Amino acid sequence: MNQTLGVAPDLTCLKPQGSLQSLTTFRVGGPAEWLAMPRHRRELEDLLAWAIAADLPITFLGAGSNLLISDRGIFGLVICTRRWRSTEFDDSGRVTAAAGEPLPTLAWKAAKLGCRGLEWAVGIPGTVGGAVVMNAGAHGGCAADVLVSTTVLAPDLTPLRLTPADLQFQYRTSALQGGRQVVLEATFQLKPGHDPALVVADTLAGLNQRRATQPYDRPSCGSVFRNPYPHTAGTLIEKTGLKGYRLGNAQISERHANFIVNLGGATATDIRRLIHHVQNEVEQNWAVRLRPEVKFMGEFLDF
Ligand SMILES: Cc1cc2nc3c(=O)[nH]c(=O)nc-3n(C[C@H](O)[C@H](O)[C@H](O)COP(=O)(O)OP(=O)(O)OC[C@H]3O[C@@H](n4cnc5c(N)ncnc54)[C@H](O)[C@@H]3O)c2cc1C
Repeated sequence: MNQTLGVAPDLTCLKPQGSLQSLTTFRVGGPAEWLAMPRHRRELEDLLAWAIAADLPITFLGAGSNLLISDRGIFGLVICTRRWRSTEFDDSGRVTAAAGEPLPTLAWKAAKLGCRGLEWAVGIPGTVGGAVVMNAGAHGGCAADVLVSTTVLAPDLTPLRLTPADLQFQYRTSALQGGRQVVLEATFQLKPGHDPALVVADTLAGLNQRRATQPYDRPSCGSVFRNPYPHTAGTLIEKTGLKGYRLGNAQISERHANFIVNLGGATATDIRRLIHHVQNEVEQNWAVRLRPEVKFMGEFLDF
């Protein structure tokens, strides 16, 4: 641990060498030098002020469902925003949700109120903050379609309200991916006035279809690679004969070739090596270099 930091702030939400494994859906990775799960904005601001003064790198985490964290862990301060949860719907179908609100919970709440627009989100196990940063999407819908604005905290602790034009949304990316601003909340415009039973039925149908075709029973990060238009990554990997291919305890899912699953006890290095292997094999066969959708965090020196 860095001995030059001086006194850490007196915050019960901050701990040294905090385990990150259980905070990612892959269930791998080393610890955070400092881990904090702030409960409110004041705590977040104190943490940021301390880390900036101590010149510590700062990393933000939502539900950890699109991350591969290195076995060496993450140097500096990791701030996980999943504890901030709230939703506020108005009669016009506008909903403001805190960054840590689970996306599936938000989607179910909207469906039960008869609001359309988030049916696609119910099987995505991330938070609202992560969905905005990643422009999460499925079944032809995505965050960019419904987002009105998001409030972020800039590195100088100034709150900024950003619109979709500021965020430069594209397929699974946004201008927030540099990691310098923390998402506090987001406002979405949904379409109210529908029969809740029908919206719930459509939402459930999408979820069931995903459960039938994707390996929800094993730790993973969802789709590992971005789809290289006009192909899908899963089809290229499957046609390369890699379905079921295993490296250590990491395996290309038998059910969906764009998923890597942790069979139990896999390391981040196993998974990183497998990703590299898939990229090389697919490139040799199809002259397409697959680009990871999963975000790598920490150092991967030995893969
Ligand atoms: C089984 C499974 C299925 C999936 N299916 C889909 C799918 O269909 N479509 C899809 O798009 N994704 C899918 N994913 C991937 C993932 O759920 C999404 O990318 C999700 O939006 C990530 O949200 P998160 O809160 O987990 O973010 P994290 O994984 O924690 O972080 C992702 C990025 O967002 C940043 N971030 C997170 N929260 C904040 C914040 N508050 N402020 C600033 N930065 C922040 C992180 O720094 C990181 O760069 C799936 C994952 C799994 C495990």
